[in-house]
Amino acid sequence: MKYIVVTGGVMSGLGKGITMASIGRILKNRGYKIVPMKIDPYINIDAGTMNPYQHGEVYVLADGTEVDLDLGHYERFMDVELSREHNITTGIIYSAVIERERKGGYFGDTVQIIPHVTNEIKTRIRRVAANSNADLCLVEIGGTVGDIESMPFLEAVRQMQCEEDGTDFLFVHVTLVPVTSVTLNEQKTKPTQHSVKALRELGLQPDIIVCRCKRLLKDDAKKKIAMFCSVKNEAVISAQDAGDIYEVPLLLEQEGIAEYIMKKLQLTQLTEDHEWAQMVARRKRSVATGRDISIALVGKYAELEDSYLSIKEAIGHAAAELGCNVEMKLVEAEDLEGATVTVTDSDSIFSGVQGILVPGGFGVRGVEGKINAITYARVHKIPFLGICFGFQLAVIEAARNLAQLHDAHSIELGETQTPVIDLLEEQQKVAVKGGTMRLGDYEVFIRKDTLAEQIYGKNKILERHRHRYEVNPEYIERIEREGMIFSGTNKSGVRMEIVEMEAENHPFFVATQFHPEFKSRPTKPSPPFIAFVNACMHHSSRQT
Ligand code: GLN
Repeated sequence: MKYIVVTGGVMSGLGKGITMASIGRILKNRGYKIVPMKIDPYINIDAGTMNPYQHGEVYVLADGTEVDLDLGHYERFMDVELSREHNITTGIIYSAVIERERKGGYFGDTVQIIPHVTNEIKTRIRRVAANSNADLCLVEIGGTVGDIESMPFLEAVRQMQCEEDGTDFLFVHVTLVPVTSVTLNEQKTKPTQHSVKALRELGLQPDIIVCRCKRLLKDDAKKKIAMFCSVKNEAVISAQDAGDIYEVPLLLEQEGIAEYIMKKLQLTQLTEDHEWAQMVARRKRSVATGRDISIALVGKYAELEDSYLSIKEAIGHAAAELGCNVEMKLVEAEDLEGATVTVTDSDSIFSGVQGILVPGGFGVRGVEGKINAITYARVHKIPFLGICFGFQLAVIEAARNLAQLHDAHSIELGETQTPVIDLLEEQQKVAVKGGTMRLGDYEVFIRKDTLAEQIYGKNKILERHRHRYEVNPEYIERIEREGMIFSGTNKSGVRMEIVEMEAENHPFFVATQFHPEFKSRPTKPSPPFIAFVNACMHHSSRQT
């Protein structure tokens, strides 16, 4: 087993996750099987309880683990399916160590960070590597070098490096090379020097330094970094800003990162896979077609793009497949509050928009605005896709405005006499918040002769979930009488999974209790997203 460990310096948000995902893709293209892991030094057991405002979206794995969005990048770039053991947090490590201590598992030892915590970290990394059948294990250490939180993890990988063969271990450090000003345009290497210095104080010497920069690094900047940081010239890699994140593997390749990694780890090229490069070319072509579509995403965290990262990606995958260019218009749900379908407010917010998407969410803020957006999409026959919370709100909207159940609401959001969205019995007993929603892959059974069947082309699918509340079966008949169809359910038929509007009443009105965005890949777009973007394209041609 060979290991590549990715650390980050200078500041967070430099795209370490995308760098690691890109390195994984580059090696996959050369025929290697990769297993990626992410270490998050926070004390939370998982990302499930974390506010998307702080960390971006919570990504959900097939087995239901709620993780950092970087694991989404790994799945999309490397086209792999990850699970619980691929994400390690400080919370997981310490609770395992403490649990073992309570059981007497340390036989009287004083339990310490070194060696007990570091051993726990090393064991977990090696176990994932060994169970994976992969050739290479890629480990990203979250946070910035110098943070107190990441110290035990950096110490653990330092020890691992000593224990493994020299040709089996490689450190990649991602830093920032800012420019002084647009006019002077001088690339400053000092932050990189300092961050490598901090790394070396911990006993770690990077083999490769990936420098985030506006433009390609100039030769003298590269030389300076190489000299001050004790790496070869060719090991200083420019990662200049890319218009499209999927282009990053190609840009890093042009910088010679693949050759350098292969040389250091003594790997030979096994195959040559061009699928990725072709996909990137397809994305470029679609942007250039001039077939521009605008989709409104009505959310609560709309100002923070990363809150809906996977949705944005899934839309992009579908757009490239269909050959159009989608602009996402982020609409703050509260701005639609108090609006009605006829008021000019919504008209101006949605003018020039060919599709409306209401994504997942929690809590009452912005809810009435989201419901107004759904009414707008329904009445004006604008293609609509609702996801999770968006599905629940579409059901509430139909109950209120079509079935005349004016008090209809979700019990998540307050008292109501008409709980069309309710807690099923099993959730009523749940008191603990973390990891207790209905999470991960569940089968969905699709009704014959429905739009959902057309979208998926089959009657049984597997999609990822993350929700606590469900459609209350008592109201189904009442809502279906008004032209809504619950076209997907779980096996027993009690849980509603997909709702759609009858085709004669709307060109495309679909909402899913599950999150199809988590399964979308740039080379394999998600069916509901393809169908939705396609409907938006048709809507656009009708408008012109
Ligand atoms: N808040 C809703 C629930 O818990 C929807 C969750 C979501 O959109 N992910 O069921």
